[in-house]
Amino acid sequence: QVRVRFAPSPTGFLHLGGLRTALYNYLFAKKYGGSFILRMEDTDQNRLVPGAADAIEDMLEWAGIPPDESPRVGGPVGPYLQSQRLGLYSEAAQTLLESGHAYRCFCSAQRLELLKKEALRSGETPRYDNRCRHLQPAQLADRLSRGTPHVIRFRLEPGAEPFQDLVFGRNRHEVSAVEGDPVLMKADGFPTYHLANVVDDRHMGVTHVLRGAEWLISTSKHLLLYRALGWTPPAFGHLPLLLNRDGAKLSKRQGDIFVQSFARRGVLPEALLDIVTNCGSGFEGNRMGRNLDELIAEFNESKITTHSALLDLDKLPEFNRIHLLQRIDDVERCCHLVEELREHIIQMFGPQIQEKDVLDEDYIQRVLHLRKGHISSVRELVTPTYAYLWIRPSVARQQLDELTSESATIAMLVIELMEAGRGKALTTDWLGAELKAMAKKVKSTKYSTVMKLLRLALSGQQQGPSVAEMMVSLGSGETCQRLQRVLQ
Ligand code: GLU
Repeated sequence: QVRVRFAPSPTGFLHLGGLRTALYNYLFAKKYGGSFILRMEDTDQNRLVPGAADAIEDMLEWAGIPPDESPRVGGPVGPYLQSQRLGLYSEAAQTLLESGHAYRCFCSAQRLELLKKEALRSGETPRYDNRCRHLQPAQLADRLSRGTPHVIRFRLEPGAEPFQDLVFGRNRHEVSAVEGDPVLMKADGFPTYHLANVVDDRHMGVTHVLRGAEWLISTSKHLLLYRALGWTPPAFGHLPLLLNRDGAKLSKRQGDIFVQSFARRGVLPEALLDIVTNCGSGFEGNRMGRNLDELIAEFNESKITTHSALLDLDKLPEFNRIHLLQRIDDVERCCHLVEELREHIIQMFGPQIQEKDVLDEDYIQRVLHLRKGHISSVRELVTPTYAYLWIRPSVARQQLDELTSESATIAMLVIELMEAGRGKALTTDWLGAELKAMAKKVKSTKYSTVMKLLRLALSGQQQGPSVAEMMVSLGSGETCQRLQRVLQ
């Protein structure tokens, strides 16, 4: 059975790159009927951000891709927080010490710093010189008996074998030539990422590791660890980087790459999932507007390419518009939108609302259906352009008279039209045609001026939806009242 995991470090909040990694894991799990695990890699105690672990899980839930096993929901191979699994790592380190694949290193921070400085001075890449590999048993016993703080390092042997990456194909990194022996256990008793992720992927039964391409070069090292421990490794697939449209790294410093900031701004989760998959690869064909079920159905890991995905966030409103339209067309989800919009209306216009009907389900639904495809967020509907939907605009007769001397005639004709149409379900098509016919009866005012006048009278605005649409959303009663009011 397929088991995949998303393993963020709670050293910050979930950003778009992380969301994409989580999503690809989720899609892979669902496509093969497997499990999607969330594991918190919280072993770097100095860099933990309070609340980040919870927030990451919240955001996966918000995005609609909740894990099957996680710190919050638990599961058969927990705990899912690395800080609660320390025993497993020291056990593995002990095994490696005993088999000679690992050794204790007593080098002080100062010595390591010095090595680093020297290397940099002579233009070399800093690397540990593996000095403690060669400690004599007596030296070792002496330091241990004095309780000298130490780390445990992995004896990196040359001869990393090539592996087949699901995305990048055949790969091999001769790690031992480049790096000094890596630390597996730190002096504080916490494991490093390299040891912890190998131990956990093994103990959690992970079958496929799908993670960011930045880990590709570490994989040979991980495979050597699997070999040293006598374990069969999972399959690996590295996901190409997610970059800005201009090819620059998505920076966590830009506040707007955090998933929670999109959530706060009213971006729909399905729009965010759609945009991060749309710019990448891994799907049959490329189209906008896929919902989660379609993403699962169309996901194909063999289509993931190695080039970076360029994310164009300027297109986000367009994605949101398409997904908002789908939500409005879905009876159940539309009810939630109605509730959400109602709250915004109350918050924005509360005390000014005279007609309580504007808070009715039917009325709000009608507005949503008329505006779908034009708006990319329900919050747009409480901006000044749309205030007329919820509160009566204040328009003076004089403003209308400035447009034409026939304002009264026009208002009367429209009122008559509305009376004639009473009992009928108003549609924009019918009204559009009737308004055209009506405008012909007005002698010296152009059709466009007639529309301008009506728009102003009904909404107090110079711009906005078509007059016919305004009338349909307001309904005939309210339309007549607004026209009568300005005539008084
Ligand atoms: N904790 C690592 C990260 O946040 C996980 C890498 C992996 O998936 O193995 O990038």
